[in-house]
Amino acid sequence: MTTQPHNAKPSNNMALIDRLPETRGKLRENVPLAPLTWFRVGGPAEVLFRPADTQDLADFLKNCPADIPLTVIGATSNLLVRDGGIPGVVIRLGGEFAKTELRDDGIIYAGAAALDVSVAKFAAANSRAGLAFLSGIPGAVGGGLTMNAGAYGGEFKDVLLYADAVGRDGTSLKLSPEDLEMRYRHSTVPEGAVFTGAAFKTTEGNKAEILAAMEEIKNKREESQPIREKTGGSTFANPFRDNPDCDKHAWQLVDAAGCRGLKVGGAQISEKHCNFMINTGNATASDIETLGETVRARVLEQSGITLRWEIRRIGVPLTE
Ligand SMILES: Cc1cc2nc3c(=O)[nH]c(=O)nc-3n(C[C@H](O)[C@H](O)[C@H](O)COP(=O)(O)OP(=O)(O)OC[C@H]3O[C@@H](n4cnc5c(N)ncnc54)[C@H](O)[C@@H]3O)c2cc1C
Repeated sequence: MTTQPHNAKPSNNMALIDRLPETRGKLRENVPLAPLTWFRVGGPAEVLFRPADTQDLADFLKNCPADIPLTVIGATSNLLVRDGGIPGVVIRLGGEFAKTELRDDGIIYAGAAALDVSVAKFAAANSRAGLAFLSGIPGAVGGGLTMNAGAYGGEFKDVLLYADAVGRDGTSLKLSPEDLEMRYRHSTVPEGAVFTGAAFKTTEGNKAEILAAMEEIKNKREESQPIREKTGGSTFANPFRDNPDCDKHAWQLVDAAGCRGLKVGGAQISEKHCNFMINTGNATASDIETLGETVRARVLEQSGITLRWEIRRIGVPLTE
């Protein structure tokens, strides 16, 4: 685990926590986020909120003063938290939101904190087909809805019936894939909404075949991705999915720009898959972000194509 210097929060810490509504969940100040993130970098959350359940979350959002910034994090597999940490309240769903159940008509309902791989395994255990691709995505359902995550031929939008969320004002929302305008690695999430769960359609399947498909996905990922490294997955969205005039994968452009293995401080472009950045041990978030921007600049210069960050960068830089 990397220990990061940080400018954890200042004198108004007590003031912030004092301004927050009562909750049955947990509120903690100045919580280091680096140990929670895939990259193992980043500063602290000014306040970390773990709601007890959906009602607790709704009450909190309804009564939380509108000027307090709120940030939701999931399994953090698509996040780069900057070194100065995240001001305001960081919301992280846990236990109560991690349940998965089989409902009528083969609908699988999963809480927003359920890991995608757990949902895939649950579907397989119940001989329900259609969700095997989720086993290739190391995030949780809430992050998958936000990113319209996808792998090996499937995307959230293909299997989503509806998502439940709580709005910034505490109201319940039920959102269809159309409401969310889901497309390649994009959803339009109502400002400040927190997903609490999602209903997925499945079809009747053969358990052995589903498990075999999941095994194949696992083997392909092992071969092609640095999945045991501290990484944030694909750094950039694939331009050929965003832009009909471009037929290239992001990794091809990064490679052609000579960036495979490129290093900034403790951050490096993976030799194994050059759309992945890795923390080789002592990287800061600043190293990782600078590396990404360096690659974007080189790709633009070499190919004329502007890569779009797929990794979400959140929080503030470290200040002197
Ligand atoms: C090794 C590796 C391989 C990967 N491979 C793939 C892949 O094949 N395909 C793919 O699509 N992605 C891949 N990713 C990226 C990542 O796993 C996905 O984007 C995943 O869906 C992110 O989910 P998360 O729970 O980790 O979300 P986070 O990274 O925690 O958050 C992502 C975004 O979702 C928002 N969010 C999270 N939870 C909620 C919620 N409950 N309500 C509202 N907003 C929320 C956050 O605010 C943030 O904007 C990979 C990542 C790694 C590290």
